[in-house]
Amino acid sequence: MKNLSLVCLLMASAIIGGCSQQSTTPTPTVDHHMHIRSQSAVDVLAQFRGPDADTLSPTNGADAIRLLDSAGVEKGSLLSLGYFFGMPDVSVENEYAKVRAENNYVANEAAKYPDRLYAFCSVNPLAKYAIEEVRRCASHGGFTGLKLHFGNSDVDLRDDGQVQRVRRIFQEADKLNLPVVLHMWTRDEKYGKKDAEVFLNEVLATVPDLTIQIAHLGGAGFYNATTDSVMDVFESAFKTHPKVMDEDIVFDIGAAAANPKLAFEAGDTTKAQAIQKRNRMLAERIKKMGAKHFVFGSDWWARNPADFVDVIRSLPLKEQQLLVLFANRAPYVE
Ligand SMILES: [Zn+2]
Repeated sequence: MKNLSLVCLLMASAIIGGCSQQSTTPTPTVDHHMHIRSQSAVDVLAQFRGPDADTLSPTNGADAIRLLDSAGVEKGSLLSLGYFFGMPDVSVENEYAKVRAENNYVANEAAKYPDRLYAFCSVNPLAKYAIEEVRRCASHGGFTGLKLHFGNSDVDLRDDGQVQRVRRIFQEADKLNLPVVLHMWTRDEKYGKKDAEVFLNEVLATVPDLTIQIAHLGGAGFYNATTDSVMDVFESAFKTHPKVMDEDIVFDIGAAAANPKLAFEAGDTTKAQAIQKRNRMLAERIKKMGAKHFVFGSDWWARNPADFVDVIRSLPLKEQQLLVLFANRAPYVE
């Protein structure tokens, strides 16, 4: 299906019989980065965000499907926020029970749309119960993979002991055939090249066949010079770690670009130009490493999938590159 629509799009100008009905606007097939949350996650988020933050409400599989439909996207990965319960910034009673419940919530919601949604369980990799939860998720049957968030779990990639514990989680995931979506960015102000090298050499190199989706291209969200320095490490790894850098690894572009239009409309030309510059840097990165290594993700709830599709369409990429990026699927997507 993917290939057919891609071929139709590529040949749209030739207007070939069966393809002539197809839309010629490039559209992603999968949103690889979405989040839903139960009431329990909303409560813990409120604790984290403080009393002045907007009140969030729970979201479910039907919400995700509605947004996918509005963006014309076929499938989505639902990444559990289970790691929120294990953040050092919050205090949660019966923490592990709540992590399990949050993960199960995501699996149950995804199971209502088995042809369209993939559930990812998640856990703070430094939590005492981390290995136990990874094993439970693997045997549960309702999870496609595991989501880890180094920033929210306050993982320090410059601490040997923590790196060792993280490596154990990845090796367990590898053993259990559980693909990992990783938010690699940490809270360290100096986060960048060095952390990426530690992660590559000390963790990834030990699990070269595990499917890994690096979220936000290794950054915290919007693409910047730090993210670019992290991606330099992965680019060099094509030569130094070819087994790590084969088709098992993809980079999701979740929240990595923004629309300069709003800033222009508000008269903030400086901000608009800064956004354009970072968008160009992202496009250059995709061109340099090849669009086939990247997958679409919105990072909903941070971004609306349909709006984010438009932002990505506006990047300075050739149509062919955009088509490849939008057609790409992580290996865990059927
Ligand atoms: Zn996210």
